[in-house]
Amino acid sequence: MITKIKDFLGFDIKADKYKLSNDSQFGMISDEKKPDKWVFSTCGYCGVGCGLYIGVKDGKAVYTKGNPKHFVNKGTLCPKGLSEHELVNSPERVTTPMMKVNGKLSNTTWDRAYAKVSSEFKRIANEHGKGAIGVISTGQLLTEEFYTLGKFVQLGLGTNNYDGNTTLCMASAVMGYKQSLGSDGPVGSYEDFEKANTILLIGANISDNHPILKLHIAKNKNKPKIIVIDPRSSKTAQMADMFVPIKPRTDLALFNGLSYIIMEQGWEDEGYIKANTNGYKELKKHLQNYTPGEVSNITGIDVKTLYEIARQFTAQDSVLSAWTMGVNQSFMGTDTVSAIINLHLLTGQIGREGAGPFSITGQCNAMGTRETGFTSSLPGYRNFGDEKAAKEYADIVNVPLDIVPTERGYKYAEIIDAIDRGEIKALWIVATNPLVSFVNQDKLRKTLAKLDLLVVQDAFMSDTAELADVVLSAATWGEKEGVYTNSERRCNRANKAVEPLGDTKSDFDIILDLSKEFDGVNELLFPSWEKPIDAFNEWKKLSKGQLCDYSGITYELLEEHGGIQWPCNEERPLGTKRLYSPDIPFRTKDEKASLVCVDWFPMAESVSGDFPLILNTGRTVEQWHTRTKTRSIDILNDLAPEAWVDINPSDADKLEVKSGDRISLSSARGRVEDVVVRVTQSVAPSTVFVPFHFNTQLVNTLTNESFCPKSGEPNFKQTAIQLHSHSCPDGLEFKEDEISGVIEHVKTAYEGIKRKEKELSV
Ligand code: SF4
Repeated sequence: MITKIKDFLGFDIKADKYKLSNDSQFGMISDEKKPDKWVFSTCGYCGVGCGLYIGVKDGKAVYTKGNPKHFVNKGTLCPKGLSEHELVNSPERVTTPMMKVNGKLSNTTWDRAYAKVSSEFKRIANEHGKGAIGVISTGQLLTEEFYTLGKFVQLGLGTNNYDGNTTLCMASAVMGYKQSLGSDGPVGSYEDFEKANTILLIGANISDNHPILKLHIAKNKNKPKIIVIDPRSSKTAQMADMFVPIKPRTDLALFNGLSYIIMEQGWEDEGYIKANTNGYKELKKHLQNYTPGEVSNITGIDVKTLYEIARQFTAQDSVLSAWTMGVNQSFMGTDTVSAIINLHLLTGQIGREGAGPFSITGQCNAMGTRETGFTSSLPGYRNFGDEKAAKEYADIVNVPLDIVPTERGYKYAEIIDAIDRGEIKALWIVATNPLVSFVNQDKLRKTLAKLDLLVVQDAFMSDTAELADVVLSAATWGEKEGVYTNSERRCNRANKAVEPLGDTKSDFDIILDLSKEFDGVNELLFPSWEKPIDAFNEWKKLSKGQLCDYSGITYELLEEHGGIQWPCNEERPLGTKRLYSPDIPFRTKDEKASLVCVDWFPMAESVSGDFPLILNTGRTVEQWHTRTKTRSIDILNDLAPEAWVDINPSDADKLEVKSGDRISLSSARGRVEDVVVRVTQSVAPSTVFVPFHFNTQLVNTLTNESFCPKSGEPNFKQTAIQLHSHSCPDGLEFKEDEISGVIEHVKTAYEGIKRKEKELSV
């Protein structure tokens, strides 16, 4: 009673609960949570790859602390990293395998779950061919698990319809690198943020999505000029020396226009171009339609600013262009990446300290998916159809050559289409949640209902898992071991700190166990494999001599050095900071990069009288993807409990709403109700922003099926929508020339491009 009275009067300061005690490694920490041990590891959320320690007490993860010695983060972590231990014991965890009985998921045993999955996979392969099995994985597994999964799917199940959710975020960067430089592989290093004279951040809101990268910019002694190119005045734009508010989806035209100016002014690096590239003359001719006037009209950026940005590429010693989803998630994503790379090739701003094009990856191990083989390549960036590469692969892993796929399979969206057509009958989804993250949700839900079998392997009960016929209960970060590779090709060690919760198993163990259900497959593919190190050792052999060479990496070296950047081999025992320095040639036949002729086109779905505004979607620092990992972490949900819509004051006036009111959004595909309003100048009139994380306000109900034809990446960033408020239930009405301020430029520019097409065909 006395305690209650003290508490009520505010005299109880809960001294026991908040008592601090001295920890030999981290100083004063919470006494209640003081760990028995600290386990060296790496953050399992984003592609920055922060080093950290997991505090373990009584066999449970109780703390996460940044590793002060780690190059990437020097002891700091963002809110997700700081609370990461909380996801391990989340009430959202799937703690036992489950199977659907009479339309309801019920707990089952591993034996029954494996028997069901394997018997159905075999039946479907017999009746419809092996390609009738599709697999969509993630960027969240460990490299050892990706390698094991890819090997089992491609060589064991014999299907090449295997993609990752990484196609929703990084595929355009992958294809752009291949198109321009001959291979996938991020060029630069975080150290380049510390050395550049000019840093362009293009469609990259690093303050929310990769916050720790700002530390590297803060360390830059050159006082770099920071140019932020984005339709939205994001938190990152607030730190810019020059903010360039570009009209939505006109970035490719901008980069072509900058290349035009550089050539027009003779600012290019002729020596570099001659020695290292092909296609200069063709590009010069191609760019004649991207005059500053035309590009200004398309992008909304004034001509003087265009010249100023172009000048930065040549007036400074080192220029870094970093981009993320604003560039990649585009129906012209691959070509936009190539247009950025063109700028760096023209000016020789590549392969040097502080210089280069730099794609910042989204997930902790998106790189692992890309390197170890999936829809776009065999392991080690080996191309499908390359007989020598296929033989090399078969010889190293000791399998018959005829089981190595010779052509690429379906990309993510093509797998979904194939399900819709009835061609793919079984889908195995690993650690991803398309029923929040993919476009056009109503259609997707109907498509998935057509499957004979949906298997979801996940640590959390996701929206997609709820629909599954079988759920394979996976262990998560902190419960398993292996490596992640971050945006700068740095391979980092992630250790097991605690035992897998309940009846869960590491993804590595699940794949190995499942492979035993298929005659001879386990013996052929995984002979005497027991631990992730077995996969890692084979992966090292397979990567040897490839650009992504891991052959010199050991688990011990990773802990000693806080990660190592590939290629790492005998010649480069401590890895490589940047690619395409003079001793690392481009991965093309003649070892020269390509200056690629690419064109800008208006959006397939333009704004109209019915849907006159443009919706932009993205992320917020407090939440992770579809919130499967973060939705039960109190501190993150207190900070960002639900979706919101940013709208410009001029649109708020028309809708007669203020911050805190609630409105609805609609598109040609559906409607999202009850979204809280934030009135802000950060979005331009007739454009809005909504974070995509929330299944309660499922914004991907609105997004459309427009994909980059080369990468298959969806154009998440621009959707034509309408807003509905209490005062304006039917939505806003605009005159044609007001609609998003875009209609006019689209028309003019479209005619320009058409004119050019006509000229070229003459
Ligand atoms: Fe983890 Fe990324 Fe945050 Fe670092 S920045 S703590 S890697 S989520």
